[in-house]
Amino acid sequence: MEITAAVVEEQHGPFVVREVELEDPGPGDVLVKVAATGFCHTDGIARDGDLPFPLPGVLGHEGAGTVVAVGEGVTGVREGQAVVLGWPYCGGCRNCQAGEPRYCLRLGELVGAGHRLDGGSALRTADGGPLASHFFGQSSFATYSMTSASSLVPVPDGLPVELMGPLACGLVTGAGAVFNTIRPEAGSSIVVYGAGTVGLAAVMAARNSAATTIIAVDRHAARLRLATDLGATHTVDATDTDPVQAVTEICGGPADAALDCTGVISVVRQAIDSVGMLGTAVLIGGAPAGAEFTADHMTTLWGKTIRGTLGGSGRGQAAITALMDLHAQGRFPFDRLVEYFPLDRIEDAVEASYSGAVVKPILRMPT
Ligand SMILES: [Zn+2]
Ligand SMILES: [Zn+2]
Repeated sequence: MEITAAVVEEQHGPFVVREVELEDPGPGDVLVKVAATGFCHTDGIARDGDLPFPLPGVLGHEGAGTVVAVGEGVTGVREGQAVVLGWPYCGGCRNCQAGEPRYCLRLGELVGAGHRLDGGSALRTADGGPLASHFFGQSSFATYSMTSASSLVPVPDGLPVELMGPLACGLVTGAGAVFNTIRPEAGSSIVVYGAGTVGLAAVMAARNSAATTIIAVDRHAARLRLATDLGATHTVDATDTDPVQAVTEICGGPADAALDCTGVISVVRQAIDSVGMLGTAVLIGGAPAGAEFTADHMTTLWGKTIRGTLGGSGRGQAAITALMDLHAQGRFPFDRLVEYFPLDRIEDAVEASYSGAVVKPILRMPT
């Protein structure tokens, strides 16, 4: 079938909206009519070659929409069901079997091979040329997405499906770092470096936890105001303040936990230095390929944990469902982060994301 997609022709190239060909669903496939897809910096990283993905291809990995057809052998989803397209996983490897599908040992192939795990690309150019599909198992910068049943998360009745896609990546990444990795103890302190989508999700998650000191650090005053609205008890503008010193003053000593949501190496060090004995520094933000960081040896010996996390760890489906419920209850108001763009203005959405003008752009598909 003919669909509309934003195609990246070459590394660093623009997103070009055009008609392309999508196969009919085969065994194990689920065809989703995409309502909307969030733009995430990981899409930009893939376009620029820091995350390998064959080009030309279709990116997009924060999609949500409606199931319109299922292939042979698919169970557990039905036509007409509203779904979030979650991260793919193989289901058979050691980590998947241990309940850690975010660390699926085949994750690299599943997100970046440009085709199904055991098959070809679902996409072709209009004149029959090669076109990579299945970015994060979905390639959802398109009016339709070919995906697999295991990654789908049903959207409860009454929630706007077009809003829900970003829950599957940036939002669950920040919230999961708090819920699954830090698991704050009563009265504990958390400092969040970077008040973008991931950091603000962490702030909202911390607000739903027993942590009582929640510090947001950023360089944009507007984002710090938003962080306060969403649950930060303190903010630090790092433009003119040493954030490590500020955190120490606020907490009366080091923080219990720090999250780096920026991927900026100097900020990674500040996050590590913000926690003390038995403290935990969690690295979330994506740095350029090959980046390295350092830590002070002596203070790391003080029982400090420096830990990385992908996609919020844990079982993504359960976490995404929980975030939808929290949103419906008014306890995870991530709609405050969002601005909608039509698919044909994808370049404006990308620019708004990189300039910081919009925290989470969402691309609406033409109907
Ligand atoms: Zn696996
Ligand atoms: Zn993402």
